[in-house]
Amino acid sequence: MTFHTLSTYFSKLEATTLRNEMTKILSELYKEADKDEIGKLCYLLQGRVVPLYEKIEFGVADKMVIRAIAQALNIKPETVLKTFKEEGDLGKAVEKLKVKSQKLKVSTKNLRISEVYEVLYKVATSTGNGSQEIKAQLLSQLIRDVDPLSARYIVRMPLGKMRLGFSDQTVLDAFSWMIAGDKSLKDEIERAYNVRPDLGFIASQIKKRGMEGIKHITPTVGTPILMARANRLSSSSEILEKIGECAVEYKYDGLRLQVHYSRKQKRHAELVSASSKNKKKTLKQVQGDWQMTIKMFSRNLEDITEMFPDIKEAIIKQITAEEVILEGEVVAYNPHTGVFVPFQETMQRKRKYDIAEKALEIPVKLFAFELLYANGKSFLGKMYTERKKKLKSIIQKGNTIVYAQEIIGKTSQDIEDMFDDSVAKHFEGIMAKKLDGLYEAGVRGWNWIKFKKAMSKKLSDTIDVLVMGYTMGEGKRTTFGVGQFLTGVYDEDQDKFVTTSKIGTGLTDEQFREFIKRVKKLEVKEKPKEYDVDKLLTPDVWLRPSLVVEVGSDEITRSAVHTAGRVLKPSKSGKAFDVATPGFALRFPRLENFRDDKKATDATSVKEIAEMFKKQFQKK
Ligand code: ATP
Repeated sequence: MTFHTLSTYFSKLEATTLRNEMTKILSELYKEADKDEIGKLCYLLQGRVVPLYEKIEFGVADKMVIRAIAQALNIKPETVLKTFKEEGDLGKAVEKLKVKSQKLKVSTKNLRISEVYEVLYKVATSTGNGSQEIKAQLLSQLIRDVDPLSARYIVRMPLGKMRLGFSDQTVLDAFSWMIAGDKSLKDEIERAYNVRPDLGFIASQIKKRGMEGIKHITPTVGTPILMARANRLSSSSEILEKIGECAVEYKYDGLRLQVHYSRKQKRHAELVSASSKNKKKTLKQVQGDWQMTIKMFSRNLEDITEMFPDIKEAIIKQITAEEVILEGEVVAYNPHTGVFVPFQETMQRKRKYDIAEKALEIPVKLFAFELLYANGKSFLGKMYTERKKKLKSIIQKGNTIVYAQEIIGKTSQDIEDMFDDSVAKHFEGIMAKKLDGLYEAGVRGWNWIKFKKAMSKKLSDTIDVLVMGYTMGEGKRTTFGVGQFLTGVYDEDQDKFVTTSKIGTGLTDEQFREFIKRVKKLEVKEKPKEYDVDKLLTPDVWLRPSLVVEVGSDEITRSAVHTAGRVLKPSKSGKAFDVATPGFALRFPRLENFRDDKKATDATSVKEIAEMFKKQFQKK
């Protein structure tokens, strides 16, 4: 397939906001794509050249792209800038400028997807001295070579502004439509994706071997697995009623980590077959010949290995298995008092420049609570008890990695005792786990139930919202230029973000400053396509879906203007819509934390909000 054909699909996708329509267009695109190019095509659809969990980013800014366009079309950067200002988008600007240049009969090549992909891959992977120049040159050549429509997307892609407006969920739906003509295979495809969240890989397997190609996907060291999530309940009796006698662990307040570790001997066969004469030499070689992989991923699959050099060291010392994927919670503690500190302080390690210092200043422990894979064997389909037993057996005693001890909760009293003990230790509450429950990758199921301190209040939990836009400030806040933030949650069924609240109060000046610094980087000219926002709530500035924050609130109420869970019906005149069921809103929302470990689609879902709303009434 040529990149031009792909670009016509991009433009069709760009033109619609309807999820069904997008799914249809995508499935047609997959049908038309070749089996050897569909993988690359899937990465390009995400505006990338590798899966989301790989750390390769384009590292390209507007300024450089403007330079590349000017160079390609032999015009002044000022001309590009002027058109950019008129169009509000560099993609549209380059397209317009290319149309003009074509009138001068500049010839273009009809490049294939793989040819464009190769160049974009080089753009993304060139690093070090002079790399900015190389990137600009490569982009410039591509822009010169392609037609105007293709140029629109070639420019947008490295800038992360594809504006297609859907998440992986829609892409997975479309695979099912491609094979079955409906969404009947979506769950099975999603299960494979949860274990191997690499759209390119899944797509090429399906294209080559149909559903058979993804039937037996097993964990692979180095490729993150989408993490299992917990449902919430607010009493020990509810927990027992739901899952019966269960394991109860502390709910540590830190950062979820998925550790991938493998140490294999290189040239193992050679070493084993070495003659006895050479035994001494061989032994030396064995010791020095380990091939080591250690990777650590956060909840949103970001590779954060560099954040924890101390855990890396501990893995080598304390983990006895040769190959393992395990999960745990990293918690920082005060080295003088030994007291554990809250999540936000653990996150300070995210600042890349002084990690070594921070490692001393804020030491951490990893409480290991899950085993997903060990020595060639997947543990996803094993019962909790079996996973924990194996996990315990592969951790040697040490200071940094600690086995997350469970108790067996037979009665409400057992669970409550553990809860009180947890609170006394400054943890967040407890996690109850079904004894014969499997590890449900990527699923918020009932095999894990969280019961937090905060749940004793009227609103049973904090909510993680996406920051979608902001209004200009008045009074004191004008100094910062921001008044209120429009925030919302994720509607999984529609693959859209819907609103629940405007947040302004409750922020300290320092929080406000930090907030603004972050949102300034996310500003976009138009409302992102994946946002469903009532006209009455239109903010002054839109933000692309990226920043997730945790908010506390007094309760969930109903609101006609918020779109979370809102249902509309055609009005009597048939020309407009009336509210059939009002949406959900947060009463007195206030910012509590940044959730840098969550991506936009990890925000609380509408289903969870609806569940919490129902719970509120039961409490009343
Ligand atoms: P979720 O992960 O459910 O979307 P969240 O990230 O906001 O929600 P919580 O609601 O606080 O987190 O609860 C789940 C999280 O609790 C896990 O992702 C994990 O980081 C943490 N956790 C702490 N202790 C444990 C434990 N013993 N077992 C499992 N998870 C634990």
